[in-house]
Amino acid sequence: MAESRQDALAAEFRGKTTLGVGIIGVVVLTPFAINNFLQGRALLGIGAVGIVAILAANAWSISRRRYYPSLTLFGLVPAVIFFLVFALRKQGMVGALWCYPAVISFYFMLPERRAWLANGILLGIALPEIWTVIDHPLATRVAATLFAVSAFSAIFIRVISGQQRKLEAQAVTDPLTGLFNRMLLHDTLEQAIEQNKRTGAPMTLVTLDLDHFKEINDTLGHDAGDSVLQGVGQLLRRRLRRVDHLFRIGGEEFLALLYATDADNARNVAESLRSAIAAHPFLPGRSVTASLGVAALHPGDDWRAWMKRSDDKLYVAKSGGRDRVVL
Ligand code: GH3
Ligand code: MG
Ligand code: MG
Repeated sequence: MAESRQDALAAEFRGKTTLGVGIIGVVVLTPFAINNFLQGRALLGIGAVGIVAILAANAWSISRRRYYPSLTLFGLVPAVIFFLVFALRKQGMVGALWCYPAVISFYFMLPERRAWLANGILLGIALPEIWTVIDHPLATRVAATLFAVSAFSAIFIRVISGQQRKLEAQAVTDPLTGLFNRMLLHDTLEQAIEQNKRTGAPMTLVTLDLDHFKEINDTLGHDAGDSVLQGVGQLLRRRLRRVDHLFRIGGEEFLALLYATDADNARNVAESLRSAIAAHPFLPGRSVTASLGVAALHPGDDWRAWMKRSDDKLYVAKSGGRDRVVL
């Protein structure tokens, strides 16, 4: 779940940087493309116009929110590499200068591994050409600086993607318990509803609220309350399966989405959670209990109605005396 959100954010990031590359590429390359025609270098001019056209198409489609990444990978990248080889043969060092922005633009526009691949292909094709058409002392320096620019770009993108993943993980995680916070709740429940519609797999929610938690804070202090919350979080995580999703949705309120689990099985799971919490020595000489509401997904439920039913059951468990499961 978190991964698909991260993929979407990474794609949004690349869409924006590709738009930037597209606009700047068009502005910078167009005068040179025109100049090539004026100077009678028609083939170079046609190549440059081709690249300008793909950059413009990319920028246009992104601005209309209809970005096709394959246009970059299978259109722009081969066109740029082809053009660079042609420019190197025709213009030597002047052509080599265009390799630098090309390398950087790959890292801006493509997913990390594809950028490495495109960069590797560019270097593999361009370096022998550079060695052939440019004097060796200069070619050595061009090769060294191209390697440096490639490495800097790769490092830069590596660090940015790492940071992006870390920030996104932080945004969806509750720092106290390490469980998901509410951020992904809506998406997760909607996906479960979709899956239920597609496959018929039953889905059940368990809402869990600690009993008289305020008293723990009031008598033993906030830190003791925090350690109970951490302990309950760990216990829940240990006792549920990896396919289930666990959220801390409020101060001392948790929600578990039990995948492919019907109401009866979910009630058994909830009952085992209840008794495990009641038996666990979270605090010396004092038990901690929880009330749980269980609600299976019904046909026609949206995520709000589903959650509300589970909440209502929790309320019944509370008013019925706490430390119990209500289905
Ligand atoms: P009930 O059995 O009806 O659920 O009673 P309760 O005392 O558990 O519920 P109430 O809603 O009255 O109190 C919840 C308390 O949880 C109040 C709030 O101070 C505490 N709380 C909320 N978030 C945190 C937290 O992150 N750490 C600690 N230590 N306490 C928290
Ligand atoms: Mg409570
Ligand atoms: Mg509560």
